[in-house]
Amino acid sequence: MITSKLPNVGTTIFTVMSQLAAETGAINLSQGFPDFDGPDALREALCRHTMDGHNQYAPMTGLPALREQVAAKIARSYGRQVNADTEVTITPGATHGIFCAIQTVVRAGDEVIVFDPSYDSYEPSVILAGGRCVHVQLKDEDFSIDWEKLSSALSPRTRMIIINSPHNPSGALITRSELDQLAALIRDRDIYLVSDEVYEHLVFDGVKHASVLAHEELYQRAFVVSSFGKTYHVTGWKTGYLVAPPVLTAEMRKIHQFVAFCGVTPLQWALADFMAEFPQHVEELPAFYQAKRDFFCNQLESSRFTFNRVGGTYFQTVDYSQIRPDLNDVDMSLWMTREHGVASIPISVFYQTPPEGKHLIRLCFAKREETLRQAAEKLCAI
Ligand code: PMP
Ligand code: GLN
Repeated sequence: MITSKLPNVGTTIFTVMSQLAAETGAINLSQGFPDFDGPDALREALCRHTMDGHNQYAPMTGLPALREQVAAKIARSYGRQVNADTEVTITPGATHGIFCAIQTVVRAGDEVIVFDPSYDSYEPSVILAGGRCVHVQLKDEDFSIDWEKLSSALSPRTRMIIINSPHNPSGALITRSELDQLAALIRDRDIYLVSDEVYEHLVFDGVKHASVLAHEELYQRAFVVSSFGKTYHVTGWKTGYLVAPPVLTAEMRKIHQFVAFCGVTPLQWALADFMAEFPQHVEELPAFYQAKRDFFCNQLESSRFTFNRVGGTYFQTVDYSQIRPDLNDVDMSLWMTREHGVASIPISVFYQTPPEGKHLIRLCFAKREETLRQAAEKLCAI
């Protein structure tokens, strides 16, 4: 009998809910992915590059043209000049980048601080490195960092802190002054940072994303992860990148080369072409998704769900206390999918110890207007 290295891990909630949506014919606002395609020019570029014979291994670190584009985007967005050769690595998805960053730093007995609710891939990656997650709950009311809880969670064994802004599942943002506060807190300690910024370009209401790439002090000890899947509406391409100072990048690549070696070649060519031709895409993205958020939220105003519009990501969390306070959020998601035809994600699954009495579910609004309109109609009828 095999002894599991991840005895507490089952099938992820994203797979469970997407499957249930497919089985029941419910509108799937659970797993985060657009129900529309990426830009024509991007998909045409992919066809072109596969036909042009770009089908063999890419360089281990990623296609130089794409790493250059990423470096140029970082310079435009955050004012940092990163070296495309020594600081940027293309990864087969942000998940892979997070995994490799954790393996680079975390050793047996080390502690890694994660903020609950936290994305589901962090903890298994820490456990496989022999480490242990210390869960620090974000504040109940606005999902911001509770500094007292964070300070008391630090120990001599703390080797890494994982932050995620814009935050999945809550949509909350970490501010620049919070990054300053974090820098001050870990200044004299041997602690590294993973900054999961996959929703970096989905920030609304005129707010500017506070990236660790724009924070000189934190960047020196950070692995910053992003995903082309979110930014270019192609989650199925599973292509992302990891940016870190040269010494950290060099160590991380030792692991990356034996986990995947490289990402998919023609996808990298297509992304490089598209980024060169349409640099404005990322500047247009906040308005694009803000319009979807507002379209969806405007329709939900007449429902019995209550909510504050999210500051970032393509997820809207809603409170269902006025509808079925008797149900926990997992049962609420199942009930809504089966009985009302809309699939969602319960928030409690992102916690080690879910807070009592919360009635929150997450709805993905990366959908066509027609899908959002139909979903909202069903939600308003509950
Ligand atoms: N981190 C967060 C917070 C996410 O929501 C996602 C999206 N699934 C990822 C990482 C992984 O991104 P990718 O699909 O590029 O691996
Ligand atoms: N990040 C996506 C979400 O939060 C799902 C990714 C996945 O299915 N693993 O819904």
